[in-house]
Amino acid sequence: MEASSGLKPKRSEFTLAAVSELSSSPVSSSSSPVVARFCADRGAVELRFSQDSKFIDGFDFNLGTSKLFKLGPVQSLCISESSDSNKEKSYSRGVTIQFRNEEESGDFHSAFEQWQSVDITQGTNLPNGTISDVRSKFDNKIEPSSAKMYFHYYGQLLHQQNMLQDYVRTGTYYAAVIENRADFTGRVVVDVGAGSGILSLFAAQAGAKHVYAVEASEMAEYARKLIAGNPTLGQRITVIKGKVEEVELPEKADILISEPMGTLLVNERMLESYIIARDRFLVPNGKMFPSVGRIHMAPFSDEYLFVEIANKALFWQQQNYYGVDLTPLYGSAFQGYFSQPVVDAFDPRLLVSPPMSHVIDFNEVKEEDLYEIDIPLKFIASVGTRVHGLACWFDVLFNGSSVQRWLTTAPGAPTTHWYQIRCVLSQPIYVMAGQEITGRLHMIAHNAQSYTIYLTLSAKMWGPGAEQGGILQTSSCKLDLKEPYYRMSQPQPYTMAQDQQPHQLLQVQDIPIHTEDLEEPELLQQPLENSGAQLQ
Ligand code: SAH
Repeated sequence: MEASSGLKPKRSEFTLAAVSELSSSPVSSSSSPVVARFCADRGAVELRFSQDSKFIDGFDFNLGTSKLFKLGPVQSLCISESSDSNKEKSYSRGVTIQFRNEEESGDFHSAFEQWQSVDITQGTNLPNGTISDVRSKFDNKIEPSSAKMYFHYYGQLLHQQNMLQDYVRTGTYYAAVIENRADFTGRVVVDVGAGSGILSLFAAQAGAKHVYAVEASEMAEYARKLIAGNPTLGQRITVIKGKVEEVELPEKADILISEPMGTLLVNERMLESYIIARDRFLVPNGKMFPSVGRIHMAPFSDEYLFVEIANKALFWQQQNYYGVDLTPLYGSAFQGYFSQPVVDAFDPRLLVSPPMSHVIDFNEVKEEDLYEIDIPLKFIASVGTRVHGLACWFDVLFNGSSVQRWLTTAPGAPTTHWYQIRCVLSQPIYVMAGQEITGRLHMIAHNAQSYTIYLTLSAKMWGPGAEQGGILQTSSCKLDLKEPYYRMSQPQPYTMAQDQQPHQLLQVQDIPIHTEDLEEPELLQQPLENSGAQLQ
């Protein structure tokens, strides 16, 4: 049967004569029968064995990684390759199955094959043992190879550690939870994409009645370990391995907690999973931590960055590279470099105008609204300079009942592992102080868990002919948010170019930066030297 054929396997339950783990004594049916049961649960199709309605510990097989062999007319062997990253368990496991007769052995083998080729679906583990043939929202929109790499990445402790060591990030979550105990005490919480389980543990510290920590990657196993090692909190936490789009929870949540933000807020497309979790698990008017995200944007001027990117393509201008003319590829290489959003921490004095923002209300937004984000741009240049592109960053709000707290990734604020992002135009535009810059940031989600970005910036011509009006300078570029250029490893001094005197550019004081529990934007008071920005 084809994976997507939509056929449902007929039979899910088999009574056996006996089952035994390789090299141990059989669990026989002499007292009560052993039952083999196929089911779709925890985001995977599994074969489990039970006796007296209780699952036999260690006898569960993920069909995605299991094989079934016939040892004889009524005896078979089921082997599972371990995909478990937990070293102690990373060996293959197997059980021998004894059937009551040859016919049942045959039926079991065909059921095994059928269940193996079924998609993991939404609405799984239905009481009659069948599963729905509706593919989950996640599977419908995300390329399997992208999802595989994505969850492999998050399955590794080093990447979770990287996030945990972002103290601005983790510290703000901690403060937001602990300062708003009233929102957690006695409440049911769902941690959407729990990773190491850290936010679940914070929620338990804040008095949650119960936390369901949903995590799709192998990190779920580590989260279990961490939570088991913190028993006073852990007894109120259940780790559920699977995608939030697919798992079923026994009860609704009063509050969702999650850290679904990627670069530019929306990269990784995990916000959509957060919204799906809201629709599936949150009680009406339940709380979301965070509840609002904002993308901030402003044009910037950075001659060094522009030259650095343009120079990368110069390699392809060689006409005699071991006797080969490389110039036919120069144009493509040039375009390629400018299609990478630049990720680094920049000096906010490079901004050419005060930023504008696009608000996403997590309580209200529809999942589909995030498939295409179209932002009209309008700025007034504070200085006369060359504009090299659009700088972007984001912040999110924890709208607690006691304290409101913002987590910001703004330039000039303490640096986070998200840094900031800049879309660089291959054709800079010239502006005068007071001049209007218009444009459009159009982001279209793609099935590799990211976005294609179309940026256009325009400025009316100044100087001779300006009085006739009309947009004379327009520069556009197309970028792939999935392919950023991480620039932090190449330290750049943020010295000003000759034509960029600091006094000409936007002062850091002009950028609203939320650091504390504020309702209105607070202006950063201190000068840049003391702002805590890591200019690497
Ligand atoms: N909450 C943790 C981890 C954040 S990283 C912390 O704050 O430290 C995001 C996590 O969400 C990753 O571990 C990733 O595997 C998980 N994740 C992403 N999409 C998911 C989905 N659709 N269902 C379940 N988990 C998901």
